[in-house]
Amino acid sequence: MIHDHIVVGGGIVGLATGMTLLERNPGSSLALLEKESGLGLHQTGHNSGVIHAGIYYTPGSLKAELCRVGAAATKEFCTEHGIPFETCGKLIVATNDLEVGRMNALYDRSIANNVEVERIDAAELKRREPEISGLGALFVPSTGIVDYELVCQAMGRVIQQAGGALELNSPVTAIRESAAEVEVRSGERVWRTRRLIVCGGLQSDRLARMAGLPIEHQIVPFRGEYYRLPPSKNRIVSHLIYPVPDPELPFLGVHLTRMIDGGVTVGPNAVLGFAREGYRKGSITARDVVEYARFPGFWRTVLKNRRSAMTEMRN
Ligand SMILES: Cc1cc2nc3c(=O)[nH]c(=O)nc-3n(C[C@H](O)[C@H](O)[C@H](O)COP(=O)(O)OP(=O)(O)OC[C@H]3O[C@@H](n4cnc5c(N)ncnc54)[C@H](O)[C@@H]3O)c2cc1C
Repeated sequence: MIHDHIVVGGGIVGLATGMTLLERNPGSSLALLEKESGLGLHQTGHNSGVIHAGIYYTPGSLKAELCRVGAAATKEFCTEHGIPFETCGKLIVATNDLEVGRMNALYDRSIANNVEVERIDAAELKRREPEISGLGALFVPSTGIVDYELVCQAMGRVIQQAGGALELNSPVTAIRESAAEVEVRSGERVWRTRRLIVCGGLQSDRLARMAGLPIEHQIVPFRGEYYRLPPSKNRIVSHLIYPVPDPELPFLGVHLTRMIDGGVTVGPNAVLGFAREGYRKGSITARDVVEYARFPGFWRTVLKNRRSAMTEMRN
């Protein structure tokens, strides 16, 4: 049998792709191949669980539009499928004059991105969040929280109900393309498809090379470390509390996150990891470390960002 589509990767990107393909092409045949025994077990199941409103990105960019439309679609999907989520809102707090300047620029950007935002002063911040001090803050009411693993499981069920096959425990080990079809292998098992879409997250560069694509980039693992506050502190904040981000860095900064299970986490920092898919502090995968140590792009990035690398380690 030859499939119309095969999607590799059971994270949120692969699942959303599979779901949309079946929605747009009813009756077509689709298989989703995932190397793990469940869905959403890598980045998607290890993130902060925030439904971002879309204020940070360059106005007019695809990323800004994706985030804004995606946030609404996520909430709609959760409502339809009975997945708990909460639109608790977020405060981005400025603690010095430099951050006040950046906060004001972020306010303009939110307006340009069509995302509802309110500027509040120090007194109002204290009223809304007695445990938080700052010179002022932006309040973004539409930011929410959710458990993305539950979202993935529901997306998986939608794919199956639309006739798609979920092939768990299927690590893709070879991809061969001819003019007529693509052959995908997982060990001895073989699938054939007219179109292949790879959403392999942290393995996406290896999968691209497996498919014979001449790429130059390489994934270098960065881990985000979180603390979980003790349950006695679960009510310490009633919104998500973020710092004003440094526009030079690709991180949002250490934040206080209310989780949908009622807990509160503090994090993440961003530190170099010793394994692409290692989520515990001591995780090491020799192949991953050797590969990035040999990659000139890694050393260029380290040199360029050595100052913030030190700060993140200290954090
Ligand atoms: C610390 C941190 C916090 C974040 N917080 C948030 C947040 O609060 N809100 C938010 O919206 N985003 C957040 N993000 C970003 C978000 O988590 C990611 O953008 C998203 O999860 C990426 O999804 P994905 O499907 O591309 O990757 P993944 O979830 O990693 O999925 C890739 C899948 O591909 C599979 N795969 C890989 N190789 C193979 C193979 N050879 N064969 C078969 N399957 C394979 C993997 O097993 C995996 O399941 C955060 C990211 C980080 C790092």
